[in-house]
Amino acid sequence: MPLESGIFLFSFGHLLADVFFFASLSAIQASNPPMAALTRLLKPSPSSSISFLFKSSFSTTTAVVSDIGSNFSEPKPPRNYQWVFFGCPGVGKGTYASRLSNLLGVPHIATGDLVREELSSSGPLSRQLAEIVNQGKLVSDEIIFNLLSKRLEAGESKGESGFILDGFPRTIRQAEILDEVTEVDLVVTLKLREDVLVEKCLGRRICSQCGKGFNVASINAKAENGRPEMSMAPLLPPPHCNSKLITRADDTEQVVKERLRVYNEKSQPVEDFYKAQGKLMEFDLPGGIPESWPKLLEALNLDDSEVKRSAVA
Ligand code: ADP
Repeated sequence: MPLESGIFLFSFGHLLADVFFFASLSAIQASNPPMAALTRLLKPSPSSSISFLFKSSFSTTTAVVSDIGSNFSEPKPPRNYQWVFFGCPGVGKGTYASRLSNLLGVPHIATGDLVREELSSSGPLSRQLAEIVNQGKLVSDEIIFNLLSKRLEAGESKGESGFILDGFPRTIRQAEILDEVTEVDLVVTLKLREDVLVEKCLGRRICSQCGKGFNVASINAKAENGRPEMSMAPLLPPPHCNSKLITRADDTEQVVKERLRVYNEKSQPVEDFYKAQGKLMEFDLPGGIPESWPKLLEALNLDDSEVKRSAVA
């Protein structure tokens, strides 16, 4: 692991928590003038803060995607991939982010998984979270930053470097705070027809023992309004998982539709935020994993066998 990545990751989790704290203070300041002086003292100035140092020292990319904006053509020192996977509920961002994470050797960090881990614990947050998540609403930024900072810090202590974030950032505020602490190289936004998304969410199953995800839906959507027909074979579990399958409590039709509404309202602007930075790569999924995976690798200029070979070298 390059030394820079180690130093960078040592601080990323802390930095995220700190920047969120300062950003929150600024919000309090706006509604509470006596807080202003304190905030001015505490808020790191963009030109001298650690976050600026991090950005300037490590604003690099492992330039695998050459055609996404001009950022990718500058020669920069190497560091690990810092990517974001984006897309509607059910689109498969977890599946593709996890495959890429294995291929590239960077951690796949899904805020939805962090939320579900917290939900399944008997911690003080879990009742409050269940209510929000099961209505298809977004959890507060404070809770998300807290969970994410803890996850990053745990990874840092194990020497993890780089990331593929999945489900974060999901609001403009989250994107702006992430931008304060580090540079995202690439945002992949996966696209799929909305009727197929709902069907996919309803077919989703998880093995309660091994944690693997499957999908029992067999999708055959007809051509409609200029959209081509689409078929996706189910992703069935092996026999030993069959009796242990569970469905996420928020994968009901009503909650999925609410999550799609929230996505369009809150997350669509995040796509525009990254588009303006020249970092967004939109990818229309042509079908299930067998059709989509090779095409996604091609769009990312990645070659499955080559990446594996260079990881071994
Ligand atoms: P989805 O299939 O809707 O993309 P996720 O597994 O990413 O589901 O997230 C599940 C739930 O966790 C979301 O509906 C939301 O309540 C919460 N959540 C996950 N990530 C975030 C985030 N970045 N900000 C706010 N809430 C989040």
